[in-house]
Parts: sequence; structure tokens; C-alpha cells
Amino acid sequence: MSQDYYSVLGVERNADEAAIKKAYRKLAMKYHPDRNPDDKAAEEKFKEIGEAYEVLSDADKRAAYDRMGHEAFKNGGMNGAGGGGFGGFTDPMDIFAQMFGGGFGGFGGFGGGARRQADPRRPGSDLRYDLDLTLEEAARGCEKTLEIERMVPCDKCGASGSKDGASGFKQCPTCHGTGVVTRQSGFFVQQSTCPSCHGAGQTISNPCSHCHGEGRVHKDVKITLHVPAGVDTGTKLRSTGNGDAGVHGGETGDLYVFIEVAPHDIFTREGADLLCTMPISFADAALGCVLTAPTLDGPAKLKIPAGTQSGTIFRMRSQGVPTLKGGGRGDLLVEVQVETPTRLSSSQEKSLRAFAESLKDNNQPEVNDFRKRAARFLK
Ligand SMILES: [Zn+2]
Ligand SMILES: [Zn+2]
Repeated sequence: MSQDYYSVLGVERNADEAAIKKAYRKLAMKYHPDRNPDDKAAEEKFKEIGEAYEVLSDADKRAAYDRMGHEAFKNGGMNGAGGGGFGGFTDPMDIFAQMFGGGFGGFGGFGGGARRQADPRRPGSDLRYDLDLTLEEAARGCEKTLEIERMVPCDKCGASGSKDGASGFKQCPTCHGTGVVTRQSGFFVQQSTCPSCHGAGQTISNPCSHCHGEGRVHKDVKITLHVPAGVDTGTKLRSTGNGDAGVHGGETGDLYVFIEVAPHDIFTREGADLLCTMPISFADAALGCVLTAPTLDGPAKLKIPAGTQSGTIFRMRSQGVPTLKGGGRGDLLVEVQVETPTRLSSSQEKSLRAFAESLKDNNQPEVNDFRKRAARFLK
């Protein structure tokens, strides 16, 4: 335990109070034992972080550390007899609890430090489900039945885990109900999850055989999910309370549904707009026509003016996808692609040649304009 406190927190030697606090917060969240169960290295790191923060966040201790390094906190240093010293290190869990106000998500047992009684309830996990949709389903919204395996409360023991109900619980004699055991070595207090009760603080004299004392069991369930119109790939829907049931009646997690929309034959999607590339004949483009265009709501008329060029995009208002937050629909953008006729019969070829002969400059202004601009490269 002699690593430099500044490098433990990853801050400069002249870092101010706020920077030290910020660095501690970030690292403590990352290495908290509840996030890294059975990870000795993380536990050690968590302790180091707490120690470094305790010293560097206190002006007096920090000054002493800057002057004397780790010696300041050893026997014979400022801590020695008559030195009025610093009295060892605080439990890292307590430092953490001070910083985070005692409550930290699912970290039930540790919230208020070691002296509190552990809460045997633990929240259930959130679950993830990947849902594939067609573009039509995503655009219109739909109902889906999801089949998932989740933990549900055990109905044989009322989710308590005990065959005898509440009377079957006894305070764990190893940890006296705290869920943790502490070991003192020198100035360091080492704390770990109680091996007898695994942190619950209580033991069950007659565990429910159906759920093995956990208060919850695996079950295949069907969930009806309402998918709102306008979802897209990357949309995350939360189905509250459809995650895993908690241990011993702890809070139930949520189910998160991740949407993936399959590619479509005709439409590609850009946000709320739909894009469609539509080939049209050379004659229709030249003469103009009224085409039937595909939309999500069925066929719709689209007027193509005479002289339409390949690549022209026509916007069909409100024929796209509804926006997820309400407030209308996107547009359908139809890009026309003029198809050059192939496999001409001899009479078609003859008339096309006659047509070509008849072309005047103003029939094809782009062709003539380009020839002029590129003239010196064409000689
Ligand atoms: Zn225990
Ligand atoms: Zn049970």
C-alpha cells in the first residue's frame, strides 16, 4: 500500500479539491465491490482509492503527505504516540457512503457502512430482448408477444425463500446481521462479504425447496409488448417490471427491448423520411405522365412532368414514417431513374434514328452546353 496517492486517483499534484473529488467518484463507482463480486484486485483497488481520497481530500493530511509521504501515516510518524496523529484509515465503504449519501442503486447491504443491518433483499436484474421488426411494423406500430425466461417470485414461499415464513429467518451469527465481516490489520480495516450468509445478514433455518431459499424461480413467460409507431433501429423500449424478480422479494428489474428494423425491398429510411428509387421509361420521362407510386398506405398518384431528368427527386408529403414523439409524419422521396430502352426492334431503331436526326440544340441543352465547355479537350 505504498503507491503514490496522486497517481492512485490519476490527478496532478496540484489538483484542486473538486478535481480530487471527481476522480474519486469515478474510480469508486468503477471498483465498488458490489460491481466486481469476488474480484480481489478490484477490492484492493477500491480500498486504495478510498485511502488516497481520505488523505488528499483533507487539507491537513494532504500537507503532511506532501511533506513526508506515506511515513506520515505510519507508526512513528505523525501517528505515533503523542503525535496527535491521524488515527488510521476510515473504512472505504464509509468514505463511499459519505460521498454518495448512503444510497447507491442496488448496493443494498453496504449503503450506510458496516454497522447497519444488511437487507437480505436484492433487486433483480434488468433483462435485454432484441426484437426484429419489418419496416411496416416499425412505421405503423404493432403488438408483439415476447417469449422470455425470467426470474419470477416463488409462489410456494411468498418470495421469502423460507418454508416457515418470516419466523424462519435468523440473524446470521457470523456477521451479526451486517452481511459483512471485517478484519483489522494494522491501521487497515478489511471488509468482505460474509461467507456464511453471502451478505444477506440472515440465515434461513428451513429454506423453501422450490426456490432453494432465493424467493424466486426461473420461468418461461410471454409478454405482450406494444410497439409505438415510429420506432427505428436503435430504439430502446422499457417494459417496466418485466425483468428478473429480486432476491427475497427485492425490487423487480425491467425488460429493455432493443429494436432492429430489417432492410426493406422498396424503401430505405432516413429518420422519418422514406426513400424510394423508381425506374421510369425514357418516353414517360420525355412526354410526362401520371405514375402510380408505392407508399406505406398503398398506391398513390405521382405526376411526372414532361422533360423530367433521371435523378429528379419528387417529394410526397407526409407519406413517410410517423415521428416517435408525435407531431406528424416524414415524407416519401421518390427518385426517378430513366431507363434507356434496350433490344430495339429494327422498326423502333429506325424511328429512333429519325428522331435523333430531328433533335435540335434546345431539345438537349445539357449535351450542347457540355460540348461547349469541354470543347478544348475534345479536339
Ligand atoms: Zn453473515
Ligand atoms: Zn420458494
